[in-house]
Amino acid sequence: MSQGIRIAVDGYSSTGKSTMARELASILNYRYIDTGAMYRAVTLWSIKGDFWQRDELKQSALLDSLSKVKLDFQYSEKHQQAVIHLNGKNVEDEIRGAAVASKVSILAQISAVRKFLVAQQQEIAAAGSVVMDGRDIASVVIPNAELKIFMTADPEIRTQRRFEELKSKGQDIDIESVRANLAERDHLDTSRKDSPLVQTEDALVLDNSKLSREQQLELAKSWAIERGA
Ligand code: C5P
Repeated sequence: MSQGIRIAVDGYSSTGKSTMARELASILNYRYIDTGAMYRAVTLWSIKGDFWQRDELKQSALLDSLSKVKLDFQYSEKHQQAVIHLNGKNVEDEIRGAAVASKVSILAQISAVRKFLVAQQQEIAAAGSVVMDGRDIASVVIPNAELKIFMTADPEIRTQRRFEELKSKGQDIDIESVRANLAERDHLDTSRKDSPLVQTEDALVLDNSKLSREQQLELAKSWAIERGA
């Protein structure tokens, strides 16, 4: 079989990117790579490794330690899908908590962290047959991707979705702090100097504020087929 296309999915936090990208990969029989999970796993490493002094990151110590960080996506019985592993340990649940969410966009501003992760992402993408989601996939990681999708949704709808998701996972959180965390991450992601979240000119926009999960998947699948998947 010839190598399949590369699909870049970018967009704001809590637009349902990961769900859509994962399902799209599954129906195309492609590999799915959640690059946000990679930034989150490095953030977890920084928290566990004591690289923070209150809210201040000890940046050079963290960067020195990156050579010890091994990330890969392995199948998990518990999650019934491939999930991120940090040095061989499944950290899928730990990276989704509030502690990581509140620090990840700070870490993602550091160019050396981005370089470290982008190199791994480009190596994976080179094999083709991949759906990769993140913030800089179309602009930096796979600028010549055959299909680029930019996902967006109304901020209030995103807040509600994220709040429901965290509640369903048993996290004790109020909607105000979810709203504030999303606004803060949007701001940091779009305003950072290195690889900010941008909608590239050649991206197809998928605003899913009013679309069901099935409708958006159908739309993305039709685009993928048009582009040779
Ligand atoms: O996609 P997710 O919300 O899990 O990503 C967590 C954070 O990681 C984002 O808010 C962003 O700061 C960072 N990120 C990034 N570039 C990517 C993927 C994620 O900067 N390609």
